[in-house]
Amino acid sequence: MLALWIVLAVVVATLVVGLVVVVPRRRRGRRDSGSGSATTATIDAPPGAIPRTGAEPAPVAARPEEPEPEVGEPPELRDRMGKTRGLFSGYVRALRSRSSVDDEAWDDLEEALLRADVGVVTTTALLEDLRSRVHAGELRGADAVVAALREDLRRSLDTTAGTGLSYEGDGTCVWLFVGVNGVGKTTTIGKVARREKAAGRSVLLAAGDTFRAAAAEQLDLWAQRTGVEIVRGAEGGDPSAVVFDAVQRAQARGNDLVLADTAGRLHTKVNLVEELKKIRRVADRPPGNVNEVLLVLDATTGQNGLTQARQFLDAVGVTGVVLTKLDGSAKGGIVIAIQRELGLPVKLVGLGEGPDDLVPFDADEFVAALFD
Ligand code: GDP
Repeated sequence: MLALWIVLAVVVATLVVGLVVVVPRRRRGRRDSGSGSATTATIDAPPGAIPRTGAEPAPVAARPEEPEPEVGEPPELRDRMGKTRGLFSGYVRALRSRSSVDDEAWDDLEEALLRADVGVVTTTALLEDLRSRVHAGELRGADAVVAALREDLRRSLDTTAGTGLSYEGDGTCVWLFVGVNGVGKTTTIGKVARREKAAGRSVLLAAGDTFRAAAAEQLDLWAQRTGVEIVRGAEGGDPSAVVFDAVQRAQARGNDLVLADTAGRLHTKVNLVEELKKIRRVADRPPGNVNEVLLVLDATTGQNGLTQARQFLDAVGVTGVVLTKLDGSAKGGIVIAIQRELGLPVKLVGLGEGPDDLVPFDADEFVAALFD
């Protein structure tokens, strides 16, 4: 019995000692790991970062620890254009099944083009041409009309021939990105940086939208994800100074390409037109060389995008359009309106939110996706 009491006493004593010794250690351990993460955050601060004074933009170099993996397979236009494709090809199928091209058939075709947001002007021109060819006996039957429409649309996209992005000229190549807020400008710059870097070019980003702190933050995230440097300025600072700094820095470091973001409140702030002109002037001053001014338009806004586009055309010479969100839009016909009514080539199309969801626009693929 005594032995049993001795054993019990030993067990209780062991438990008490264990609690007294182990618990404080654990607490200390937790405190230690907390201070450890704070140290990591300090180490993570971008090397070479210059503290911002709040007055003039200061170049900040962001160097990521682990950029995202190599660029993946680009998505297929046909697979991602489901909404426009579903709408348009449905009408085309119905038209093909008709025995003759009567008034109802013309109405359906008009509805298809308008609903896909090809636009009234372009739709009217296309249909007038087709009707006259039917009356002249040149086109017989629904299949022939569909084939002719397909050919007309393809031809109206011919202005895209040779519309690759330009790197030509002396000095540091600059691509400016313009467009209203929310169209996908920042995302597009991030995607382009990724593509260009994967193609072997060294890229530097310029956070030229100094009106919105969030815009610079977002671009900074892309810089880190992509593993490229970014030049940022103070919020409310002079955007031309940021672009100027970026060009100087790119020149000094031997970067191939500067991708410059710009503010997107053009439609509400008249002075932003002047600001945009100034950014362009500054960016084009040697050693800078503006090769592209890319207008970013959101495909889901359809015809409204054309009104926006005209404002930017007046402000700054646009060399081409990046049409974003084609994946979520039934208004893909806007591609045709952009080219016919604005005379601007669509150079790139955004097909999703992922980092690789940006592809060069291919007119053949686009028309095939609508009809086949
Ligand atoms: P910004 O204000 O013009 O810089 O626009 P953001 O780059 O912030 O993009 C606005 C939103 O559009 C974000 O949620 C993006 O992920 C989204 N977005 C951008 N491009 C595309 C695209 O091609 N497809 C889809 N589905 N979403 C996109």
